[in-house]
Amino acid sequence: MSLDRFKDVSEAGKKAIHSISDINLYIDGSFVEAENKETFDNISPFTNEKINAVASGDKADIAKAVKAARKAYKGEWGNMKMKDRLTYIYKIADLIDEHIDEIAPLESFDTGLPISQTKKMVARAANNFRFYAEMVSARLVGEVYQVDDDFLNYTVQKPVGIAGLITPWNAPFMLETWKIAPALATGNTVVLKPAEWSPLTANRLAEIIDKAGLPDGVFNVVHGYGERAGASLVAHPDVELISFTGETTTGSEIMKNGADSLKRFSMELGGKSPIIVFDDADLDRALDACTWGIFSFNGERCTANSRLYLHENIAESFIEKLRDRVENIKVGDPMKADTQVGPLIHTDHYNNVVGYLDLAKEEGCEVIRGHVPEELSLGNYVAPTILLNANNNMRIVQEEIFGPVIAVMTFKNEEEVVDLANDVRYGLAGYVWTKDLQRGHRVAHAIDSGMLWVNSQNVRDLRTPFGGSKHSGIGREGGHYAFDFYTETKIIHVAMGDHHIPQFGKK
Ligand code: NAD
Repeated sequence: MSLDRFKDVSEAGKKAIHSISDINLYIDGSFVEAENKETFDNISPFTNEKINAVASGDKADIAKAVKAARKAYKGEWGNMKMKDRLTYIYKIADLIDEHIDEIAPLESFDTGLPISQTKKMVARAANNFRFYAEMVSARLVGEVYQVDDDFLNYTVQKPVGIAGLITPWNAPFMLETWKIAPALATGNTVVLKPAEWSPLTANRLAEIIDKAGLPDGVFNVVHGYGERAGASLVAHPDVELISFTGETTTGSEIMKNGADSLKRFSMELGGKSPIIVFDDADLDRALDACTWGIFSFNGERCTANSRLYLHENIAESFIEKLRDRVENIKVGDPMKADTQVGPLIHTDHYNNVVGYLDLAKEEGCEVIRGHVPEELSLGNYVAPTILLNANNNMRIVQEEIFGPVIAVMTFKNEEEVVDLANDVRYGLAGYVWTKDLQRGHRVAHAIDSGMLWVNSQNVRDLRTPFGGSKHSGIGREGGHYAFDFYTETKIIHVAMGDHHIPQFGKK
């Protein structure tokens, strides 16, 4: 490893990267090899060399982890008082904050996401724990439905049991904690199956949780292939719920596989989100938002604005400015502070994205590409790309590319653009730019998506729901929606006096 690569990285980050070793599963409070002793290689997106070996868990390891999680749920964790449980959750948040300078570089090294962007995501991860600790203390007391002479009826929120969490490789640390925090804060125990292409920070999190002193078995990590470790977790009869983030087709597979054991599912799936720019919009801000929304996180972002619809009056000048941005985006080493776009996670994914660029040409698009410096030739780099002359009949407009690629189209009026925006199977996010706020609201209502931003990029408020409609997901996480998903609502009816009870068989 060239030392120059890490000149912008904190000392803690350098140390973490230089001490990367092979990693194991975390089950019942210990780091252990997979039962079958198998491993898979974790590959650098920057050099395509092996970073380390990762224990490849399978059915037997999932069974062990679920058994440990069950024991903890029935034992110390399940019986712990809420305030004691939440002390652990706050402790995890504090430990993440203390180690941001180490976790963020590790995540960038593993995933290719630029270091300036992973820092923000790791800070968000700590907030996930704090937010849910606060919400749980405010909400575990339920609703009182009725107080009359006969009954006091009230609800309580109970944990569901064992939560199976399956996560993707884009922003892995943040997305894992987005599920782990509400699951643990509400009193469940967890088996996490992280994505195989980004395993490093999941183990760092296991170390942090271990250090926070959670009882053994409360939190478990089983690395492994989706079709083996992931599928075994989904099929396990003792796992009560699955929260999944990943591709739409995987989500559908998981729902089939989990049907026999009647699991509760949350599905956060793929997207192909539109950004619509009307001719009265603040075009400079719309350009900033559009550029950030598709090219940040290397374009590997579920809410990326991958379809740009421009009003025909402003299309030409907007495209010209977008081209200028694309030519100047700093593509570089993810470990450098000024890098804006890094390498894609894996060669398989790179080939997939490049395949779409070839397809775009076949489908009749003009392909405008930014610049990748020559010294980056070992990495999975795709230059920021604009696809001009696109239309909704093309596969590159209908399918999720999940890279730094934006398809550009024009429209004449509001009705037409709403139809175009809705004419895909996905419905995760959407972005509308106009100074006419009545129109902003109208279009926001008319677009079939779980989330919609007017005159903004994707700004998140943890109190609000997150999720998609159509093929982009089922259910919502975030805010009290996650609280509800990870808890069982129980109603308790307490007789306040001797009300009438039918006396069958009484003489
Ligand atoms: P993926 O579906 O390939 O994998 C996600 C996880 O599922 C991995 O841990 C994988 O090992 C596991 N998995 C794969 N097959 C499985 C099976 N049969 N049973 C159980 N588990 C299985 O997704 P990915 O390529 O890692 O992630 C990219 C996708 O995630 C994109 O489509 C993106 O839009 C989506 N995503 C959605 C959101 C959201 O909130 N809606 C957020 C981030 C990413």
